[in-house]
Amino acid sequence: MSRRRIVVVGAGTSGSVVSMSLATRSEHEIIVVESGVYSGLDGESRFMNVLADSSLQSLHQVQLVANGPTVPYVQAHCVGGGSAINGMLLTSEVPDVAQGLTSFPQKDELGDVGRALLDAGGEYTQLWWNNGRWNPGRALLHLIDHERIRIISDNVLEVLQSGATAGVRLQESVIEADAVVMCAGAIATPKILLQSGFSRCNTQIGLGLQDHPSITFALELHREIPSVFDAGVVRRGTTSLGEQYLVVAYERASWSEPELGLVSVLLLTPHSRGWVTARDHECDVQINMLDDERDVVAMREAVQSLIETVSHESFRAIARDIYADDEGTSVESLHSLTITELDKWIKMNLRPVSHVAASCHQAVNDDGSLQHVGGVFIADASVLSGVPPSTPAAPVTMEARRIARLVEGSLS
Ligand SMILES: Cc1cc2nc3c(=O)[nH]c(=O)nc-3n(C[C@H](O)[C@H](O)[C@H](O)COP(=O)(O)OP(=O)(O)OC[C@H]3O[C@@H](n4cnc5c(N)ncnc54)[C@H](O)[C@@H]3O)c2cc1C
Repeated sequence: MSRRRIVVVGAGTSGSVVSMSLATRSEHEIIVVESGVYSGLDGESRFMNVLADSSLQSLHQVQLVANGPTVPYVQAHCVGGGSAINGMLLTSEVPDVAQGLTSFPQKDELGDVGRALLDAGGEYTQLWWNNGRWNPGRALLHLIDHERIRIISDNVLEVLQSGATAGVRLQESVIEADAVVMCAGAIATPKILLQSGFSRCNTQIGLGLQDHPSITFALELHREIPSVFDAGVVRRGTTSLGEQYLVVAYERASWSEPELGLVSVLLLTPHSRGWVTARDHECDVQINMLDDERDVVAMREAVQSLIETVSHESFRAIARDIYADDEGTSVESLHSLTITELDKWIKMNLRPVSHVAASCHQAVNDDGSLQHVGGVFIADASVLSGVPPSTPAAPVTMEARRIARLVEGSLS
């Protein structure tokens, strides 16, 4: 088999897994281009402390709902990507690459909010943590040391394609390759591909974007007790029409607000879809949440369940007050809203959860290759068929592994 050059764009969750897989299974030359830095915070168990480092994130301007305001939306900007900064919640099957590298929290590692949710019917959730965070970016450092991959710190501006060869344009140079694997995430990947002009031959790039609609209540806590983890307890639920939702307890609202806990509900199985559009230097991201009436109904029931959860005596025992929104609306006052008023309130108060996916799912073939564009593959969250009915890092990891094998096969 001749040695080919593969460029991987982005060293986040999927980019690290793809590079690792290609480097260990083939002799191809692998060049990874990542615009972010290395985090160095994998020993930090409280993810709010990791999120306090703004150099590890990029903020995109996003509309969560049609005609709604534009809000800042966090995406990873570091080696390891979302896996280096995320909440470490793992509510689905553990991918084979992470076997033995996850754990469940213990009760004494939680704070009051997690314990209150346990008492209100919650369960411990698995975490991407085992004496350290599971960050696939760490494996890249090892592979660099063994000269199996090369990592370039730069920003990919454009993907190039001409006949059988592909390539990427960086800020001051061009790298030619036999294959380019896009792993820049569900917002940046379609943005780069659209800005490269591929919409001329592939009209599906950017379409189908999804995220989990989420509502968050804030708890003014009686006391601050330091916990080992910021989140470790969830409660799963199903609406009357079979849609799934997840209630998550957070011990702190941010690293600087230890007296404020949070409880969120996420609709895990949304139907609404949005899009990413981009031209020249402009990029619009519309997630279009609750556009589908089924999501409106499901989210209403999910929020009613959240209200019931925080009305449990275990929450009343730990919180002085519980607020439903930034205006200081009390949870009790939501009871008096009509269905129409509650639906409107939900739409106005949705929060981003950074689980975007599926923005290129119809633009690729089953092997991850970009339709009508030779030599370009996508292996990140944008190729999932929808936002997963779980926390997404595990499905992203599994899909990245699958596509890496197919990329390797296509070059053999
Ligand atoms: C704050 C936060 C909390 C989360 N919590 C959880 C959780 O608890 N559990 C869970 O399962 N999932 C969680 N997620 C989601 C999960 O981490 C993501 O679904 C997953 O990491 C997506 O992987 P990806 O490879 O598609 O993108 P990413 O991991 O985001 O990787 C994209 C990479 O591409 C790089 N990049 C972007 N543009 C360019 C460019 N032009 N040139 C070069 N490099 C570029 C970025 O710097 C980044 O490293 C969370 C995500 C965030 C941001």
